[in-house]
Amino acid sequence: MIVILKQNSNKEQVENLINLLEQQGVTATGINGTHKNILGLVGDTSSIDIENIMAQDVVETVQRVQEPYKKCNRKFHPDDTIIDVCGKKVGGKQFQVIAGPCSVENEDQIIETAEAVKAAGATMLRGGAFKPRTSPYAFQGLHAEGIELLLKAKAATGLPIVTEIMSLEHLDLFADVDIIQVGARNMQNFELLKHLGKCDKPILLKRGLANTIEEWLMSAEYIMAGGNNNVMLCERGIRTFETKTRNTLDISAVPLLKQLSHLPVVVDPSHATGLTSLVEPLSLASVVCGADALIIEVHNCPSKALSDGAQSLTPKQFSDVMAKLKPQVEFIGKTIG
Ligand code: PEP
Ligand code: MN
Repeated sequence: MIVILKQNSNKEQVENLINLLEQQGVTATGINGTHKNILGLVGDTSSIDIENIMAQDVVETVQRVQEPYKKCNRKFHPDDTIIDVCGKKVGGKQFQVIAGPCSVENEDQIIETAEAVKAAGATMLRGGAFKPRTSPYAFQGLHAEGIELLLKAKAATGLPIVTEIMSLEHLDLFADVDIIQVGARNMQNFELLKHLGKCDKPILLKRGLANTIEEWLMSAEYIMAGGNNNVMLCERGIRTFETKTRNTLDISAVPLLKQLSHLPVVVDPSHATGLTSLVEPLSLASVVCGADALIIEVHNCPSKALSDGAQSLTPKQFSDVMAKLKPQVEFIGKTIG
């Protein structure tokens, strides 16, 4: 349920209203938007007497929120959420390009790739230290050492770093990571989500391989219910009957999420397609559809990559994508960076 407040309401009146509502067993959070100020109610609102709330001086109107996701619902927060990552904004008029290898493999590889993507205009660095691999015999990542190498690459380039967490027991290792990625395979690892809700780091929540948009938003809700509002949603393709591409990019999810939620939306055209040749057209499409950022796999030498070489761009290919992307981002009134 949301309570829309009158424009001229003062602080004391709003506090009194919050008390009145919280006495009825719900939590009320104030959200000041550009066009309206709102109180978002979470909890069992069934016993709230709407007539009584409407009768309060400060109240313009009351609306029930039918959807099961509340805090990430656009109705709760009409303005776009803008997440600050080391001074760079995800959401709003800024557009971020996260680039880097699938896995961190060694110091030369990550530093060389980080420098190359930075030179081409990337604004953040990705790299997996804990890798979710289908085969237990495949390269599993460098774990703690991988995170240390990412931090070295950050020190060398100034790029904020994004890396995936697979288990809660590793959370301490992520203390200096700028964005924690929850991978597709962990989108519904609810215990992990609950704990990430208790930290204040930005979370990149990837869509599960076969999850609906509503299930995905409910996972975002898990993180936000714990108090962490810094959640970005990453569309990375879903399982369909199609086999020509690794997954099928659900491009319609991008504008739809923008309607349903206020959270920033990121697109991963690399995992969505598995094909380097599709990264550029789908990156451009994502910009037009309203994405706030892209996450693209780039490797200094894709043919030698220990994971996802086939979908990783060379630094030159990435630089060509950036050259096409920049005017497209500017055309829709945003700026990269
Ligand atoms: C990744 O980003 O390296 C990754 C494993 O992605 P996903 O969880 O989307 O498969
Ligand atoms: Mn990968």
